[in-house]
Order: sequence, then C-alpha cells, then structure tokens
Amino acid sequence: MINIDKIRKDFPILNRKVNGNPLIYFDNAATSQTPKMVMDVIVDYYSNYNANIHRGVHTLAQEATEAYEGGRRKIQQFFNAAKSHEIIFTSGTTHGINLVAQGFTHFVKEGDEVLVSAMEHHSNIVPWQMLCDRTGATLKVIPMNKEGVLLMDKYQDMLSEKTKLVVCNHVSNALGTINPIEEIIPMAHAVGAAVLIDGAQSSPHIKVDVQKLDVDFYTASAHKLCGPTGIGMLYGKEEWLAKLPPYQGGGEMIAEVTFEKTTYADLPYKFEAGTPNICGGIAFGAALDYLNQIGLDAIEQYEHELLEYATKKLLKIDGLQIYGTATDKTAVISFNIKGIHPYDIGTLLDKMGIALRTGHHCAQPVMDYFQIPGTIRASFSFYNTKEEIDRFLDCLEKARQMLT
Ligand SMILES: *Cc1c(COP(=O)(O)O)cnc(C)c1O
Repeated sequence: MINIDKIRKDFPILNRKVNGNPLIYFDNAATSQTPKMVMDVIVDYYSNYNANIHRGVHTLAQEATEAYEGGRRKIQQFFNAAKSHEIIFTSGTTHGINLVAQGFTHFVKEGDEVLVSAMEHHSNIVPWQMLCDRTGATLKVIPMNKEGVLLMDKYQDMLSEKTKLVVCNHVSNALGTINPIEEIIPMAHAVGAAVLIDGAQSSPHIKVDVQKLDVDFYTASAHKLCGPTGIGMLYGKEEWLAKLPPYQGGGEMIAEVTFEKTTYADLPYKFEAGTPNICGGIAFGAALDYLNQIGLDAIEQYEHELLEYATKKLLKIDGLQIYGTATDKTAVISFNIKGIHPYDIGTLLDKMGIALRTGHHCAQPVMDYFQIPGTIRASFSFYNTKEEIDRFLDCLEKARQMLT
C-alpha cells in the first residue's frame, strides 16, 4: 500500500508553485523527482568523505570507495544480477547502449543483422545505425501495430542465423507499452543472437530480474529512478563483458601500463576509465533503497490505478486520441486533441502549473508511424495523486476551449 501523504513529504519540490499554481509534475518519463533522503546522501558525501576512490590509503578514500562499491551492490540486488562485477557504472542508459554497440564492432560483420523494435528511443537506434555503418551489418526493424504492440509473428520470421543482436526497450517512453521481453529474449537466443534491453523506462515501475530474464545486457538511468542525473548502470552477463573490449582508455581501467603494452583491469573496472561519478553511484544506491522501502509491487499497482483513472477520464474529452493502447502499459499516456498542436496545450498547461512533455519524445520513428508531429505526454509516478489528475483534466478542458 502506498502512503501517499507520507511519500509526498519526501519530495520537497512537490511543494513549489509554478506560475502561481501548485506544481503538478507529470513528466516522470523524462526524469523523476528526487526524495530528500537522496539529497541528504549527496550532501553527506560532500560534507564528510569526498575523496577519489580505489587509489588512496587514507580514511576518506576508503570510506568513499566502500560507499561507491556499496552502491554497485545495491544495484546488483535491485536487478538481481548474479555478480556485482556484472554491473558497470555508466553516465546513463545512452552511455550503456553505446558501450555495447562499440564493443560489438568486433562481433558483427557484413551480412549480419541487428534487429531493433519500431518503438525505440533514439538512443537505442542511433548507436546501432553507427555500428552497422562501421561494420556493414544490416539494421532491421521489428514492426508494431496501431495499438503500439510489437508483431511477434513478424519478429519470429525475421530471426535467422544472420541475426547477431536483438535490441528492444522493456517499456516504450513514447507509448507506455510493456514489451513481452520474456518471449523476445529466448526467441533471439534460439538463433544464437544476443539481446540488449533498454530498461530506462521499465526499471522505475516494474520489478526486473535479469537472471530470470536470462538477458545479455540491460541498461538503466538513475535519474528516472529517483536518483541524480549523470549516473546509470549497464548489466552484462559476465561471459559477454569478459569478451567485449574496453570502451575507453585511461586511469582506473588498467592492470599495468608501459609504453609497449597495457593490460586491462578485471571487471567491472575494465569499462570504467577515469574518475567516475562517485557521489552519483552512492546516491543511485540510496535512491534504490528508497524505492525498495516503498516496494516495486506497491508502486506498480498504485501507478496502474492512476493510469486507468486518467485514461478513462481523458477519453471523455472531445476529439482526444491516445497513442499506445496496449493492454500491458505503464503509466504513460501519449495523446493529441484534434485540431490543436501539442505544443500549444503544453504551453497553456505550464501557465497553470502542470509539467508535461510535448513533442516527439526522442522517438521520431514512432511519430512517423502514427503520422503526427508529436504528442502531449502525461507520465505518472507513485508520488502523483488522483486529485492532481482531476485538476489536470479541468485545466486540459480549459486549454481545449481556449484553443478551439
Ligand atoms: C530516457 C530514456 C532513454 C535515455 O536515457 P538517458 O538517461 O537520457 O541516457 C533511453 N531509452 C528510453 C526508453 C528512455 O525512456
């Protein structure tokens, strides 16, 4: 059960006003808000034990190292990875995908195929296009239907011994669709392909178990999980991470350096060149503690209630169309109102204190598929309420009347 009054007190930002109105923050798919306890962890780090990690013998360096590696273990537990060195700290989902795409330069060649889904974020499209440009491999798109659901029979037909990699988001940030990755992954494995799942949009809302999924790579961003920006994680199966070459060279990632030859550090440090985002790694761990305390099951259930409540009421608005009507969805609602540009609604709603996203949501191919320039997207989190949804609907109706 969600104790909403208690939870809202954890987020100082929810008390502020925007343009004279109480803030309603419905842009959680872009970034989540930060609870006070995570801010406290950041202040505590810089107040009491700010130091570089892994190299110092002094007390501060040891404390910082312990807390940073503690963050890694919390991530390991959150995603149920078998080993903590299967968790690579990154700057975010985009970084994690690029790390894998760069590494696969050595594992794909002309004639090979990389499959991506039709509903990917640009960060899970462009690195694979670049990989294909470098190697001569071919990028193929798994199609979807008008509900925003992947066509699994088409996917089955596309798989062959040429398929080296299948990449797909767990949840679409533009449509909210939860993709059936527990089917997608074994189907790819059956033809010997590896699978990378973009978990940026799923990890804040659904319990993820990378071992049960048997996924090869899984990525997430702390800033969508109540943590800070600039830190994220890449899970990789040990056998894959051992095979992949390092992404960047520098300090921290080496075992021994001479001008003739350098040997690389063991996992996970092979992929963590340079001084990392130490405070970020610690705060990421704290954010996961916070989410665990509330419980992913309770979060999922509560957000689903918000989704159903808002969807039902939105559909009563004249000329309103929702994009992404899969039965399996997270609390993301992408919509347009006939004859009104999404940007105009977004601007008016901001005047009323409501933060939501308008535009293509870094998923232009999805917009092209529906032949629209963009949508208005409301995305809910466990700290949102039905009262906020009611006020949002009133404001939306006002905006609609002003614009038509
Ligand atoms: C946010 C998001 C990304 C990009 O995450 P960054 O934190 O910007 O690297 C990728 N994929 C999906 C589905 C997302 O929602």
